[in-house]
Amino acid sequence: MKVLMIGAHQDDNEFRCGGFAHKLVQKGHEVKFLSMCNGCGGHHILTPAETTATRAKESAAVAELLGVTYDVWDDQPDCALVADLVTRRRLIRYIRRFSPDLIIAHRPNDYHADHRASGQLVMDASYMLIVPHECPDVPAMKTMPVIMYNEDRFRDPDFRADLVLDVDDELDIKMKIADLNVSQVYEWLPYTKDETSGELPKDEAERFEWLKGLDTNREYSDEEINALTRGYAVRYAKTAARFRKELIETYGEEKGSKIRYAEAFQVCEYGTPLSAEMRDVIMSL
Ligand SMILES: [Zn+2]
Repeated sequence: MKVLMIGAHQDDNEFRCGGFAHKLVQKGHEVKFLSMCNGCGGHHILTPAETTATRAKESAAVAELLGVTYDVWDDQPDCALVADLVTRRRLIRYIRRFSPDLIIAHRPNDYHADHRASGQLVMDASYMLIVPHECPDVPAMKTMPVIMYNEDRFRDPDFRADLVLDVDDELDIKMKIADLNVSQVYEWLPYTKDETSGELPKDEAERFEWLKGLDTNREYSDEEINALTRGYAVRYAKTAARFRKELIETYGEEKGSKIRYAEAFQVCEYGTPLSAEMRDVIMSL
């Protein structure tokens, strides 16, 4: 399969579907990440140009670790992505050139305007991908890809988990990915969440443990996980707790009740429906 994961920013794909990406690559599937924005807005001390350069290096390291190709629209500033016709046509051409079987995108209801616009752009592009007279300079695709949304926590309307993946074996790689996004996870995001840098351990190994937010050697109940408030292992554990019912339906009671970390996806009704064959390929990763 060819899979295109489209985030508004560098780190959106990493945190939301990095485990899925790594599973795909390990089984010989081709995965491409697109960040529609250049990262320039994501820092409180670095200048926008410095932030863009820093984020480019961090994303290159992620791409190497995961074995994905990674594109950034480096002329598209953060906080300024708009679902307009020019950007839609740019995206139509971009998707057609790669011709993915599956696209992973943001849901178009989300707190961040760039996320909303990114999700909207994917939806707006979806049908046009097969319309030959739209953007005729790049050959139209014969069929639309399957499109799935990454999980988010917005409730109006609620996210529906059509596919929930066990990523227990991917926790180490997901934590390494987070750790590589130094300017985000140790600098910018703590700033936005008012976690003062004074709380961050200086030592790199201790900092990495802090990043997890839980003790990976300890077993937690779903209630305990839901009570935790910070950390990337916590974030992935909360997905497993949130969709415990779906995990048990998918993997059976014995395995599904024990899965600790998960990624979840909702099928977008504007793409090609998710076939039983593709679901089987994904679930056998
Ligand atoms: Zn983002």
